[in-house]
Amino acid sequence: MRFRSVKSLQKRGDVAGLVGAARGAERVAAVAALGELGTDEAIQALTALADDPDFALWMRSEVVSVLGPKYVHKLRAARDIDGLIRTLSNRNHEVRAEATRALSELRDDPRTLPSLLAVLSARGSAKDAGTIAAAKDAVRTIGTVGRLIEIMKGGADFDARSGATVVLGLWKDPGAVDDLVALIADPQADRALQVTAVKSLASIGDPRAIGPVASFVVKGLREFARMGGSPETLDVIVGSDFAALASFGSAAGPYLQASRDGEQDQSVRILIDTVLRRIEKRPPAATTSPSRIAEIVGRWPSAPAGACDICSDRIAPEGSHRVPTAEFQSIVRKGYNPYTTGRMKGTETGILASTLGLSDEAAKEGWKVMALGTTTDFGLCRTCAQDVALFIAG
Ligand SMILES: [Zn+2]
Repeated sequence: MRFRSVKSLQKRGDVAGLVGAARGAERVAAVAALGELGTDEAIQALTALADDPDFALWMRSEVVSVLGPKYVHKLRAARDIDGLIRTLSNRNHEVRAEATRALSELRDDPRTLPSLLAVLSARGSAKDAGTIAAAKDAVRTIGTVGRLIEIMKGGADFDARSGATVVLGLWKDPGAVDDLVALIADPQADRALQVTAVKSLASIGDPRAIGPVASFVVKGLREFARMGGSPETLDVIVGSDFAALASFGSAAGPYLQASRDGEQDQSVRILIDTVLRRIEKRPPAATTSPSRIAEIVGRWPSAPAGACDICSDRIAPEGSHRVPTAEFQSIVRKGYNPYTTGRMKGTETGILASTLGLSDEAAKEGWKVMALGTTTDFGLCRTCAQDVALFIAG
């Protein structure tokens, strides 16, 4: 058996043989064997494999997990920002921690923040959840609203600008509203970037954004009418900019009415009117009495400090609630899901899922599997606890 040959190569301390095997069918075993040998020669051979651009990326990551933090020190010394970002998702947690530390030490390097932001780009192609979460944390450590606005406004590449725009929405800082609005009003700006900015404005939820977002949607409708679009085919273009406008609820109505009434083109008027009626038709807010909600929420004691198990917002013991595992899971089995109740819209977790192109259905199912597989009590922020209570009460 070939596996036995890796074993015998290891027994003989045959580094060159193991390096050859690292490119064959038993490559994972061969890499592990080199790590177990641990001689200077073996470590050198592993380092060469980790650096080899022609070696498969996943295998290089495997090699790095065997080499451990030492390899991260080498990347740090070489100021290899891209290499460090790649190791943010390594399966070895010591490697991940060291890479995060190294990046925050290299924060003055002008490439660090844009590279981390590029990981969070709305295009988000093929980036795994681990790297995304680590990049998000690192950006929170080394970024400021001012720097993010600067990067969003230009200079950096598209993915860095897009990532900055996404993160400004996640941070919900009202200080970013004016610059986000300027971006969506700029006729020269890239439309994909503008749609991301519209989503971030919806996430911040500042009423100053409603008018500009409505104008952006109407501009899209005008374009759609010019291409022959009709109310019947409107669903083809209903996208995140519509969802963003709808998230402002009935407050968006007057802006759409004003646009409709001032519109010369009959076909555009009809389209605006269709969108207006859809926004008005949204289900009314729940009518359950606040005292009933308070009564349910009041049964749940406070949770330890950490992150909310639904929306990931940070929670402190005061203003948080701890729901026993069995009770929470029975509520989930009855159909509670924050993606259905709308709770996820506007939360950091929800925005990230939609920005990364996860369908609602996939996000919903993933959340359910996660919730039913957990064995500890659920720590919830007040808003999420109220959302759960609303489900039970309703
Ligand atoms: Zn929450």
